Amino acid sequence: MELSSRQEEIIEIVKANGPITGENIAEKLNLTRATLRPDLAILTMSGFLEARPRVGYFFTGKTGSELLSEKIKKYKVHEFQQVPIVVKEDVSVYDAISTMFLEDVGTLFVVNENGCLNGVLSRKDLLRASMGQQDLNNIAVHIIMTRMPNITVCRKDDLLLDAAQKLINKQIDGLPVVKDKEEGLVVIGRITKTTITKVFVELALDHHV
Ligand code: ADP
Repeated sequence: MELSSRQEEIIEIVKANGPITGENIAEKLNLTRATLRPDLAILTMSGFLEARPRVGYFFTGKTGSELLSEKIKKYKVHEFQQVPIVVKEDVSVYDAISTMFLEDVGTLFVVNENGCLNGVLSRKDLLRASMGQQDLNNIAVHIIMTRMPNITVCRKDDLLLDAAQKLINKQIDGLPVVKDKEEGLVVIGRITKTTITKVFVELALDHHV
């Protein structure tokens, strides 16, 4: 995050004099404690300073990038997962393509008669199936999908960073977020490259990092 020059000044004062009270920092800057309050709030929220009651502020010694990576390593999948789009395994390739357009997603999850995860359909899976002369209404998606147990999944309490690493290592665009059930895995969300891109942009624009 970008610190204002006053915030930089506060950090320098706390580094040199900490622990120091808000009152004393204000005095050194010839400002009132009230004027300083928003800056001190930002500096403590973002982790540069720590405030101890009746002791004062002290410098945590962490750099901006250390704080940023600490924050990223705390993100969980459930905080960012999006709604999954699922189709049944007997729908046609034609209908799966329509669903992909209508729902504006790049990955569809395929479920069996119990509603459990059985496959994944990517854009290229559907393109490949469309290259032959067959009638796309007559091919069921279970013929062309990538199927269990070869599906890479994540769970809601996993770290978002681990999910992102799976996307990279497996060279895929999306992961189903699943919940374990007796009959199999129920799809409760999705994490995609777009999810990770959104988080990246949010982090860059978040002034409290
Ligand atoms: P595209 O094929 O459109 O580039 P992907 O890179 O996501 O999209 O898919 C590549 C292949 O990996 C496809 O055959 C797809 O079925 C499969 N795939 C996609 N997601 C997963 C997943 N979570 N687990 C296993 N296989 C997947």
